[in-house]
Formats: sequence, C-alpha cells, structure tokens
Amino acid sequence: MEPRSAIPGIVALLADLHTSALAADTSEIWPADSIKRLNSAKVLAWSIPASHGGEGLAGGELLDGYEALAGACLTTAFILSQREAAVRRLLAGENAELAKTWLPRLASGDAWATVGLSQLTTSRQHQSPALRAVREAEGGGFVLDGVIPWVTAADQADLVIIGAALDDGRQVLLALSRGACGMTIDAPMPLMALAGSRTSQIRLENVRIDGSALVAGPAESIMAGRPGGVGGLETSCLALGHAGAAIEYLQQEALHRAELVPIYERFHATRTALRRQMHVLAAGSPSPQEMAALRVDCTELALQAAQVALTAAKGAGFLRSHLAQMWCRQALFFLVWSCPRPAAEGIIGRMLPLA
Ligand SMILES: Cc1cc2nc3c(=O)[nH]c(=O)nc-3n(C[C@H](O)[C@H](O)[C@H](O)COP(=O)(O)OP(=O)(O)OC[C@H]3O[C@@H](n4cnc5c(N)ncnc54)[C@H](O)[C@@H]3O)c2cc1C
Repeated sequence: MEPRSAIPGIVALLADLHTSALAADTSEIWPADSIKRLNSAKVLAWSIPASHGGEGLAGGELLDGYEALAGACLTTAFILSQREAAVRRLLAGENAELAKTWLPRLASGDAWATVGLSQLTTSRQHQSPALRAVREAEGGGFVLDGVIPWVTAADQADLVIIGAALDDGRQVLLALSRGACGMTIDAPMPLMALAGSRTSQIRLENVRIDGSALVAGPAESIMAGRPGGVGGLETSCLALGHAGAAIEYLQQEALHRAELVPIYERFHATRTALRRQMHVLAAGSPSPQEMAALRVDCTELALQAAQVALTAAKGAGFLRSHLAQMWCRQALFFLVWSCPRPAAEGIIGRMLPLA
C-alpha cells in the first residue's frame, strides 16, 4: 500500500523536489525553488483552515502528504515541518488575533514561519533555562535574554514561535518577529545533513516583546500534551517517508537482482504496517508511550532501510553523487531531532549488543 494522497499536482511536485534533494542536503543555500514549488502546489495551504485562507486538509491526508514529501526531499519536508509546527502553535494558541494576522500570509506563501522551542523540551535540559523572559510590570510585555539553540530557517523566517522560562519556573510561548531589536541570528550551523535547512542559533539580548505576541501561557511545562509537540506523529511520519525512498530504491534494484526481492518485501511489509499504525494513532488520542513506540520503530526502519540500500548499492553508493549515502547520513538525523527521552532510550535499547 503506497500513500494514496489525492492531493492534486503532487506527483509533479515530488519529481521536482527529488531532482534537487541532494543539493538541498549538502549545500547551505536555501532551497528557494523547492519552497516555491511547495507554494505553487498549494502545500503551504494544506494545514491552514479555510477560514484563514488555507485548504484545511484532514490529519490523515496531511500525514500522507508529509510522508510523500519526505521521500522526495527530506530537507524540504523538514523545513516545512518546522513551519507546520509554528502553524499548529498559532492554531492551538490562545491568541486569535495573532492567528488572524499570520495564518493567511502563511497559507499564501507571503510569509515564512518556524519554531525555536527545543530549549523547553529536548535541548539544554541539564542546564539553567537557555532563554529567560521577564514580564513587564505594566503593559503585559516581556523582556527576553538568552539563546534559542536550534532554529531551522532562522534567517528566512518572518516569524519564530519561541519558548521561554519565567523566573517562577512557568513558561510562555511568544511570537518573535523578524528583525526584533537585540536579536542576532548566528550563521547556519555546519550540519552533516539537511544543510539547506539553514539551522541557526538565535541570541536575544534585552529583546522586548509586546504582550500581544503572547501565543500561550504562562503555564508549567507548556509543551506537554499540546498538539504536534516533541516526538509527535509528524516526526515519525518524516522518518517513514525517508525510509520509503530507500525501500523504493531496493524495489527498483530487485527488478534485476532476484536476491533483493525478499529483502525488499520485508521492508515493504514493515513500512506498510507502520503507516497503518501511524494512521490509527492519528485517528485517536495516542498516549505518549504509543507515540514513542512508533517513533522508535520508524527511526529504526529509516536507519535500516538506508543502510541496506547502501549495502545493495555497494561502493557506487558511497560516492557523494549517490542517494544511498545521503539517506544514510539523513537517517541519523532522526536520532537527534525532536527525540524525547523515552524514544531515545527505546532506540538505544534496540541497538545494544547482545549480552
Ligand atoms: C538539524 C537540526 C535542526 C533542528 N531544528 C530545530 C528547530 O527548528 N526548532 C527547534 O525547536 N528545535 C530544533 N532542533 C533541536 C532538536 O529537536 C533537539 O532539541 C536537539 O537536537 C537536542 O540536541 P542538543 O545538542 O541541543 O541537546 P543537549 O541536551 O543540550 O545536549 C548538548 C550536549 O550537552 C551534553 N549533555 C546532554 N545531556 C547532559 C546531561 N544530562 N548531563 C551533562 N551533560 C549533558 C552533551 O555533551 C551533549 O552533546 C533541531 C536539531 C537539529 C539537529
């Protein structure tokens, strides 16, 4: 069973993204053409409700779309996923005015958004808060100091949804607009894969944000139980899509190498079962344990499929021009991106040598 996305124009879009995938992975140049293609195929409107100028696709259909994009170009799909995380925050937030201002612009591609939230979840948790916010006594604004360690598309975004800790330990989500006074975007980090994502650290020094930019909070552990949080179904979905590209390569090779047929068939069966599981979870209210279990399975599939594809591609697959080496490097991304502790422990558990 392949994802049956009925989204118009997706086949041509996937072909275009696939053509630029290797360049988007290796070069720090923003994949502007791929992003433009997303816009012309109306992908940027998928997740935004019709009331805000979007297409309002249903959850399962969205996952099908994200999975297909990840198979074509993981860099583009990942950049989009961070924008989608910002969209979900605006939709779930308590600030209708902010949603009204930004969502139509995001749906039409007139503005870009991303998130800088990991300092509240999976980054710097063993240290004092990376980003602190002080609420102003009058007017309800905030003054921010510290760093946002990971922001994909930082220098391309008009809006970054960020998370900060107040002195009393509660947390807030805020909308940080491009060019805020006291905001510095560092150069993109030299990544081992997904270089086109232009992921950077943002430093904030005495940055004042108006109270009208409050997206959610103050609250304890503000990210817990919110839609599209850390280790959400979308991260598993991208791992599944990425695995799919390597599995489809094995399928093509198996057409003239009989020994690869049973190998392809096993990967295909696992991919199909995991996709079914993802859609079952998406249709219900999955527990954190169920989400983590799916994330472990999808990450393992991405790692294994990429490495088996490289094994099948042999030395030719080790050349920088071959997609198999790209899939292997990219699969490692799922070990570190939005990977909460239960998922990380599950993955490590699968990799431990037999006693
Ligand atoms: C390419 C890429 C893009 C990303 N994009 C985004 C984005 O757009 N938005 C976003 O919010 N997040 C993003 N992330 C962040 C991601 O989701 C994780 O939060 C991040 O990978 C966690 O890694 P870290 O090095 O910050 O973790 P940390 O936990 O801060 O670890 C850093 C180092 O600290 C040390 N350390 C860790 N734990 C301990 C401990 N308990 N005791 C002592 N020392 C310790 C280790 O030496 C470790 O190497 C991105 C990550 C990557 C790799």
